[in-house]
Amino acid sequence: MTKKKIVIIGGGIAGLCACLKLAHQGYDVTLLEKAEQVGGKIRTIQAGDLLIDSGPTVFTMRWVFEELFKECDENFSELISTTSLPVLARHFWGKEQLDLYADEHLSAKAIHEFSGKKQSDLFLEFCRVSKKVYESLESPYIRARRPTLTSMMSQLGLSGTKTLMGIGPFKNLWQSLENFFPDPRLQQLFGRYATYCGSSPFLAPATLMLIAHVEMVGVWSINEGMTKLPQTIAQLARVRGASIRNGAQVKRMLLSDKEITQVELDTGEMIPADAIIFNGDVAALSSGLLGSELRSATPAMPTVSSLSAITWSASIPSNQLPISHHNVFFDDDYASEFTSIFDAKKLPSKPTVYLCAQSRIHTEKLSTPSEKVLLLVNAPANGDLPPSTSEIELCQQHVFQLLGKSGFQINQESWEMVRTTPQDFHQLFPATKGALYGMATHGWMSSFQRPSSISNIKNLFLAGGSVHPGPGVPMAALSGRLAAATLMDRLPLTK
Ligand SMILES: Cc1cc2nc3c(=O)[nH]c(=O)nc-3n(C[C@H](O)[C@H](O)[C@H](O)COP(=O)(O)OP(=O)(O)OC[C@H]3O[C@@H](n4cnc5c(N)ncnc54)[C@H](O)[C@@H]3O)c2cc1C
Repeated sequence: MTKKKIVIIGGGIAGLCACLKLAHQGYDVTLLEKAEQVGGKIRTIQAGDLLIDSGPTVFTMRWVFEELFKECDENFSELISTTSLPVLARHFWGKEQLDLYADEHLSAKAIHEFSGKKQSDLFLEFCRVSKKVYESLESPYIRARRPTLTSMMSQLGLSGTKTLMGIGPFKNLWQSLENFFPDPRLQQLFGRYATYCGSSPFLAPATLMLIAHVEMVGVWSINEGMTKLPQTIAQLARVRGASIRNGAQVKRMLLSDKEITQVELDTGEMIPADAIIFNGDVAALSSGLLGSELRSATPAMPTVSSLSAITWSASIPSNQLPISHHNVFFDDDYASEFTSIFDAKKLPSKPTVYLCAQSRIHTEKLSTPSEKVLLLVNAPANGDLPPSTSEIELCQQHVFQLLGKSGFQINQESWEMVRTTPQDFHQLFPATKGALYGMATHGWMSSFQRPSSISNIKNLFLAGGSVHPGPGVPMAALSGRLAAATLMDRLPLTK
């Protein structure tokens, strides 16, 4: 008997998790990744002498990886060293600032000082509700293979249904936050969580408030950098016999009798397959990039691309400013950021700026001469159009002005900086236009419109941030586990 040959296209976190799971079960797995490293959006960029984590930096839902490692007889904590961050993020509005802590009572105390007792009490009420929303949805939605509105409602039970009805399931996140945050700065702070799914808080469903709970359960920093995570998973898969090939770009998938039988690399090499897991963005399938026969592999759906970004990966002279590991700088017209991006398809003139001071894990004071910084602003997914350098330069000026208002003066001469634009992301992640999170989660039904791991082609399975349960490192990892589980149910190990 020979083993079934599984080909995984893409070495993002979802592809790697599926690869590890299948290799552990004994399947003959080949993972093909076009880049020279695995990890996909989890990647580093060299700026000056420093390697900057230039994709995800906020590591949450660590249980997803603990479970995966345990299923593969490994111990996550022994292989990946992490630090739990006591301050989740420091938020700036000009000279005013507010820390959110992992301990909600410390956050409540800080909010009391920042905005008064009533707001602090309402924050604690919000913590209670967002926890209930998360707990109600973890099993019937987040962990479910193919949730529909009906399946979810039937599993919610009385208390889950009451929780969802209580927040007004048809409201958008912004409207539902009004009940908890009369202080508009806090409404802005918690509304920003919608951007973790690449969406506008003014259009995303209220249920996304569960992200606030996810952060409050814990934000970790991976001590050797985020890329340690994909590299470790790849190594565990190799040890179990998986073949992981870098620099291997899949040009098309070939069908015979409505099943994929082989994939062709851009070099012309043909690789036979009994089943495929596709870990690129599903837009690459629906656009016909990998073969016109695959256009209908995913259900047709109206899609609004999620957010793209401009990032600056920088090595800067160590700054003695009181910034934390994760920092967010807000401007005064939050709605305009999203109308610019989603309606006008322009870079916002008042962007929110995220700054990750990556050298500051254990201390806010540094003794090294330079430190690692990633700056990020949201941008429209228009990476398929030629870049407007003047628009990007103007955006950069707005970013530096906003930081300056909080005392963070930037001497560009002394910064070693690499900028990544939506055009760059479009090149890295084909057919996405630079959208980093699949389709936007806009409207209350959008959560059910993402494709599941099951495609319209019998032996093609889907995994990654553009499919259920959605984007973000742990969610994409979950999608990889779901794709592997579905494949194993449908395809016995041997033929
Ligand atoms: C700047 C930035 C900041 C982020 N911040 C956070 C954060 O703080 N926390 C968080 O949890 N998430 C964050 N995210 C989101 C998170 O990184 C992603 O949702 C997640 O990593 C996506 O994983 P994925 O499995 O979908 O694969 P991806 O990372 O999208 O990788 C897909 C891989 O497939 C490969 N591929 C595609 N087509 C082909 C082909 N034809 N042949 C061969 N290979 C192919 C690509 O090269 C790529 O390596 C961030 C993302 C970005 C870009």
